Amino acid sequence: MARTSSKAPPSAEAIRQKRREILQRDRSQADLLRSAWPKVEILRLQFTFDDGTRLPPSTQLHQFNPPARSFYRFPCPFADCSGEYDLSDIVTQTFKSNRGEIHQLFSCEGIRARDRITGYACGLKLDTKVIVQYKKEERKDAKRDAA
Ligand SMILES: [Zn+2]
Repeated sequence: MARTSSKAPPSAEAIRQKRREILQRDRSQADLLRSAWPKVEILRLQFTFDDGTRLPPSTQLHQFNPPARSFYRFPCPFADCSGEYDLSDIVTQTFKSNRGEIHQLFSCEGIRARDRITGYACGLKLDTKVIVQYKKEERKDAKRDAA
């Protein structure tokens, strides 16, 4: 007796949607950049991907200003991949050390739809450049002049 299973494997779009919802929920619960890291004026994250082909996913630039959420997890750009890049540690490390720029290479550990049976990791390489502009400390003189 054949019947339609309600446990059909989720489609790539369903997986992507779910992943997006989780990231959105977590982002909405993160502290604002200005309260978590008051000295940060602008944070930029530059992403360059390498999948070993001549046409890797497009580069990305994410900019964070003080009212933005201090949240640094990003989905793998492959629509059918379950992975994400968690840059929280590298960003925190950059802020704590007062550095203006840090490079780090990540590799996606998610699994793409086509590899669900074998379990091979996606392995998409992400070259991240973290660029931070800090607020200037001495603003007192400027304020007095303006008054
Ligand atoms: Zn991936």
